[in-house]
Amino acid sequence: MTDLIHKTGARAGTEDARMPPPGITAMIPCYNEIDCVERAYQEIQTEVGKYDDVELLFIDDGSTDGTLDAIKGFAAVDPRVKYISFARNFGLEAAFSAGFKYASKAWTVQFDADLQSPPHEIHRLVAKAMEGYDVVFAVRENRRDPWYRKLGTWAHQTIARRWLGIELPQGASVFRIVRTSVARKVVDSRLSTPYFIATAPLIGARYTTLPTEHHPRVDGVGKWNLRKLFPHAIELFVGFSFRPLAWLIGLSAAAVAGGAVISALALAGQLSQLAVGLAALVTSLVTLMLLTVVARYLVRVMRVQAIGVPRYQIREANIPIRADEALYGHETPYVVAEVWENVS
Ligand code: UDP
Ligand code: MG
Repeated sequence: MTDLIHKTGARAGTEDARMPPPGITAMIPCYNEIDCVERAYQEIQTEVGKYDDVELLFIDDGSTDGTLDAIKGFAAVDPRVKYISFARNFGLEAAFSAGFKYASKAWTVQFDADLQSPPHEIHRLVAKAMEGYDVVFAVRENRRDPWYRKLGTWAHQTIARRWLGIELPQGASVFRIVRTSVARKVVDSRLSTPYFIATAPLIGARYTTLPTEHHPRVDGVGKWNLRKLFPHAIELFVGFSFRPLAWLIGLSAAAVAGGAVISALALAGQLSQLAVGLAALVTSLVTLMLLTVVARYLVRVMRVQAIGVPRYQIREANIPIRADEALYGHETPYVVAEVWENVS
């Protein structure tokens, strides 16, 4: 393993830039995972513990079921356990944004608390990263999720790549190893949502994918449903491509031209009233679609404008956190103005 680790920083396929041996932060976002978190801690610490310099960073995303107490229990006996607890549920993207920001090691591996991606796969991810990548995304082999989740992922990623020209690793999951400095660039980018798999390629991260095992949840229930997944996909489309707008503008131009022809034919008495009525209906539907898409882009602009508003607020933690991200500001124990210098 040491040999592998010492290759860090070498460009893919070369042995040039040797970097210091990496520490590893195991990041575990948790939202109401009381049924899984104990087993997750045990399995993740067993695998991550095989490396020299590690920390386990739990991000409690506003759990209300005792998950935080369980995490505090691990921290009481294991000094490698760090945690941040949000003031409410801010969502997985906020959780991993905080995780990447407060990770103190050079590499961060993002795990799921439900162990759907088995922790023992970390070694293959590490080995792949050491070939010279900034990010290695796990792609779930025989994904063990409901059919509509698999179809949804395939459909929205395919639309994004093929139709909208958005570069992203097809099938990439949130189980990934990321060079922490690069991950921070991604989550700090001035985008309303750090859509990680699309932003990493955008900023020039060297990335690849690796097929890994996938299992059903060990316990508890999944937190994603169609109500959350659909807006998430739309965010990808409008956040990283202007093509939907361009297509609709083309469609509007076609509707205007068609309208002119239909009007001329109607005036010449060549069209029935029904045909004219239907043409009017089609034209107003195009207008409606255009308005909807423009409105969605406007939402996107407004979200970007609200970028100064922190994505999350932290209620408590056992590591230094930034005052502006702490709900109780300087009253919070451990608060510091800056944390970046802690990073190895
Ligand atoms: N999660 C989170 N905040 C949320 C939703 C989920 O931190 O608002 C965590 C959750 O506890 C788990 C991981 O994100 O560790 C993946 O969630 P889940 O298993 O529900 O997603 P799925 O596997 O269904 O994609
Ligand atoms: Mg899961």
